[in-house]
Amino acid sequence: MSRSWWSLLRRQALILLGAAWAGWLAGHPLGALLLATLGCLAWQMWKLRQLERWLREGRDGGSVPFSGLVWADIGAHVARLRRQSRKRKRKLSRLLKQFQQATAALPDAAVVLSEDDRMLWCNGAAHTLLGLSPNRDIGLPITHLMRHPGFVAFLTQRRQRDSVEFPAPVDDDVLLSARVVPYGKKQRLLLAADITRVRQLEQMRRDFVANVSHELRTPLTVISGYLETLLDSESPALAAWRQPLSGMQQQSRRMLHIVEDLLMLARLETQRERPPRKPVPVPVLLTDIAGDAIALSGEQGHRIEVDADPALWLLGCEKELRSAFSNLAFNAVRHTPAGGRIQIRWFADTSGLHLVVEDNGEGIASQHLPRLTERFYRVNRDRSRGSGGTGLGLSIVKHVLHNHGGQLRITSELGVGSVFTCDFPGELRVEPAIVTPACHGPAARC
Ligand code: ADP
Repeated sequence: MSRSWWSLLRRQALILLGAAWAGWLAGHPLGALLLATLGCLAWQMWKLRQLERWLREGRDGGSVPFSGLVWADIGAHVARLRRQSRKRKRKLSRLLKQFQQATAALPDAAVVLSEDDRMLWCNGAAHTLLGLSPNRDIGLPITHLMRHPGFVAFLTQRRQRDSVEFPAPVDDDVLLSARVVPYGKKQRLLLAADITRVRQLEQMRRDFVANVSHELRTPLTVISGYLETLLDSESPALAAWRQPLSGMQQQSRRMLHIVEDLLMLARLETQRERPPRKPVPVPVLLTDIAGDAIALSGEQGHRIEVDADPALWLLGCEKELRSAFSNLAFNAVRHTPAGGRIQIRWFADTSGLHLVVEDNGEGIASQHLPRLTERFYRVNRDRSRGSGGTGLGLSIVKHVLHNHGGQLRITSELGVGSVFTCDFPGELRVEPAIVTPACHGPAARC
């Protein structure tokens, strides 16, 4: 107990004792004691009322506007708590102001969504990019404010890690990338960034590579043609030049291959309208490819086996599939020592359709596997060049599979061999019976 409590008790006791003594002298000790008790009570009630009024009015000020033992202490405690709370409020509002200034300066749109996807708050960029108003649209469902079907599907699927791209609601020429991050108690933050410039730059890069490749193809074909003519010539004047000419022809052919592969990649990446899918007789295609692989193997005598379900055809683009499957088969030949075994399997199971190219060749160390489908990524640059590789083969395979809704899986062990698996969705399966001759005619684009 504090000192003021003791003083209050002492004072009250003295008053009561004094009253009792005075009452005894007057002959009414009990009456005097009752009167003194009521007086003390009234005094305390008056102080309590003062305190209640002071708290209710909430008047600021340094000092407590009433005195009295204990009551003045209570007032001082309350005043101190009030001062602390005011300080905290000032700090919080300063932080809030800084946060609002920072989010207003953000170039990306930020929108706070409630559990049922209603807009709770948005920053300035959300107004410019998404056309949202922090005053008008608060509390409205975000799917009513942004109605792009891709965005609505993305939001309702609640896939929080992926992002979605869609044209800005305020300007069709602006491309946005949006993602949703969960935070706090069941709230979500929608972030949208303008990626128009990034996409434009990517397009410029693709166009540049495609244009350069296209421009190089004609001169390279001419050089290669002349070199072939010179090498075919029986002229004795050229006898001394035969070796350098043959080296030049080899290099120009390699450059032509790279140019062809770059053009193919550019087509796979940029084609806005996919060529119509047609039934592809994969077993026949694989027999053709195995024949080419045997020719490539030549004297190395690889054992190339094809095990394909003859009733299993695929709805797709034959030209692209031929290129992808050939790349895998030729890679197996190039990276398997003479006499090695290469198996090509084509089958369906409950998860879809699969093409597997397996070899017992040199294999690939695990650290290279994630990067193999990057352009020009090679485990051994010199060996790849020496064996006629362009460094673009697996990149082409990846794009072809992507365009068919499939994916490439690679497993490999150094010194044991590699397995390249192309997975296709089961919906692409097609029965051989429905094929019409037009699908394989010369006019077919695929
Ligand atoms: P490249 O034209 O060099 O073969 P790819 O993109 O087809 O380019 O392959 C990239 C690299 O992957 C190759 O350089 C090679 O190191 C490795 N690779 C591809 N297929 C095989 C395989 N069957 N066995 C071992 N390594 C392989």
